[in-house]
Amino acid sequence: RGTSPVPPDVRPRLTVLSGPSGVGKSTVVAHMRKVHPEVWLSVSATTRKPRPGERNGVHYFFVENEEFDKLVANGELLEWAEFAGNRYGTPRRAVLDRLEAGEPVLLEIDLQGARLVRESMPDAQLVFLAPPSWDELVRRLTGRGTEAPDVIERRLAAATVELAAEAEFDTTLVNTSVEDVARELLALMLQASGDRESSD
Ligand code: 5GP
Repeated sequence: RGTSPVPPDVRPRLTVLSGPSGVGKSTVVAHMRKVHPEVWLSVSATTRKPRPGERNGVHYFFVENEEFDKLVANGELLEWAEFAGNRYGTPRRAVLDRLEAGEPVLLEIDLQGARLVRESMPDAQLVFLAPPSWDELVRRLTGRGTEAPDVIERRLAAATVELAAEAEFDTTLVNTSVEDVARELLALMLQASGDRESSD
């Protein structure tokens, strides 16, 4: 995993949504995409294979290992991390372009990535998505039905560690309803942008 520094003249209004695997981050983001198509969402590059229904360039940029190596070597990723045997990274240029244009930007990334963003962009707003309960998280992780048992096992182990990270975040949203979380998340994003404007 790694990170690249951001020029000091950039004034980011970046919101990072993170939390344990299976907590429902991508469902929240899918809802955001549907209800608020005007909100710009970063599309990550990943070496993971597409799941049914996932489209290249929409949900992820699906790349081979060699291509991901190149993105890293060329400094094209704002952050990247290895998760459950695959690599995931945020394309840097697209995010910075949006931020420079003063638009709110949302990243949905894992906890390691959120920590790297905090280091390179201390202004970023870090939002932790928490499950309503541990039982609910296990149910979601095992119930997706698209993952092999060893993959689920690895994801549960990661989730145990990740739940403890809540304290490092600026805000926690509990995922009781996807509509509520999406609404609260958008409010936080707009608030972060508004705060910055009023302090200029
Ligand atoms: P999934 O394979 O379920 O789509 O994603 C696995 C994990 O990778 C999730 O926790 C997701 O938030 C995270 N992830 C997706 N894109 C990125 C990224 O660009 N960077 C990092 N660090 N994590 C990501």
